Amino acid sequence: MTPSELTHSAATAALELLPDGVLVVCDGEVLLANRALCRMAGEDLVGHAPPAWLPASGQAEVEVDGRPAFVTVAPCAIAGGRSGSVVTVRNADAPSVLAHRASHDGLTGVLNQRAFRERLAVEAARGETLSLVVIDLDHFKAVNDVHGHPVGDRVLAEAAARIAGAARAVDVVGRIGGEEFAWLLPGDAAAAALVAAQRLRAALRSSPLAGVEVTASMGVCDLRTAHDADALLRRADEALYWAKAFGRDCALVWSARTAARIASVRDGSAPDDAHGTRVAALAVALAEARGWEADAAARLHHAGRLHDLGKLALPDSLLERAGALSEPELEHIRQHARIGAELAGLDEEPSSWIRHHHERWDGVGYPARLSGDGIPEGAQLLAIADAWDTLVSGRPYRGPLSADEALAEIDCSAGTHLRPDAGALLRAALAWLS
Ligand code: GH3
Ligand code: MG
Ligand code: MG
Repeated sequence: MTPSELTHSAATAALELLPDGVLVVCDGEVLLANRALCRMAGEDLVGHAPPAWLPASGQAEVEVDGRPAFVTVAPCAIAGGRSGSVVTVRNADAPSVLAHRASHDGLTGVLNQRAFRERLAVEAARGETLSLVVIDLDHFKAVNDVHGHPVGDRVLAEAAARIAGAARAVDVVGRIGGEEFAWLLPGDAAAAALVAAQRLRAALRSSPLAGVEVTASMGVCDLRTAHDADALLRRADEALYWAKAFGRDCALVWSARTAARIASVRDGSAPDDAHGTRVAALAVALAEARGWEADAAARLHHAGRLHDLGKLALPDSLLERAGALSEPELEHIRQHARIGAELAGLDEEPSSWIRHHHERWDGVGYPARLSGDGIPEGAQLLAIADAWDTLVSGRPYRGPLSADEALAEIDCSAGTHLRPDAGALLRAALAWLS
């Protein structure tokens, strides 16, 4: 026997010895049922349609062959790239079931609020590296309103399953409110927890939950910045509140510096950044070259000054990193366009110029993958000004280019990244400014 055949036969033997019933279902058919399950059900279910008592997901108390049973359904990958469910069935009167019921949420199967709080207190008291991610589904009231409460319940159960799927064995997941979850990551500082949170955001958006497209907002904090369990929860909640206020569908990390910066934007005392000031001036010259009216150009100037405001809500450590960024880290930085549009507090049109200043002419930009003339013109001009200023002033990972080199780069980007006449507009604008 090969090692994998040995493992397989050992796993099969173990399954047959288990007192709990185990069932694997895929594509509307029972693929596997162990001996305990067949005893409970009073028949061998393999090859048949899933039994009527089987819930779609999560956990439920059901009747199996006339006796109360506690059933857990979790998604699992099946060979050949298919996905199925693994189901465990336990006698509902077993002491372990009663204990489980007291600490777990009946709808989603994750820890209930009280049990989660207890685990949070225990983990925080250790004083070791620890992060908390709080997760709130966006506009969930509308899910209930449009699809009905039972579908809302299934969305919650599937959301919890995706969170539990993203979590590691050492992590702790709980439901701490109606559509609010908490995810504790022992051993991870905020930077790692943020990457995990961005991965979860991607997993939640990857396919609909119970047929409904759902996004979530998340707040992250670690025990270095918040020194006890209460502060950890409060600050993760504050970061979640920012994420909601700045347009939802994003994850933000709490830090004292970010809190101070956001307060300074709100009371109008945030200093202008030099890049924003230069982009604003060049954007006005580009608007002039496009024949814009003076008042529209003035609004573009305002948007240009504030176009990177959203970066205030992101950690400097990522923005200043000279090395390569991972996909979840890049995703985190890409949030700045949407966040800036909300933070700036401008009218609809200039706000849309900020939101879309990283769209690309060829349609592979962000956040909305708009293309060509579908991109608001103010955003097209901000993109040119932003690209130019970035090229001639350099980045953490690349030194500044000369004006000629930068113009050559802009010409290369025309028609892909930037609008096709970007080079001509830029030359006219630079001449106008000089
Ligand atoms: P926001 O993006 O600001 O979080 O908006 P929201 O609609 O998600 O938040 P809000 O707090 O206004 O509404 C939460 C909704 O969640 C209202 C409530 O009816 C629903 N909800 C809470 N618990 C459950 C539940 O167990 N099942 C279902 N179906 N809905 C629930
Ligand atoms: Mg809520
Ligand atoms: Mg919500």
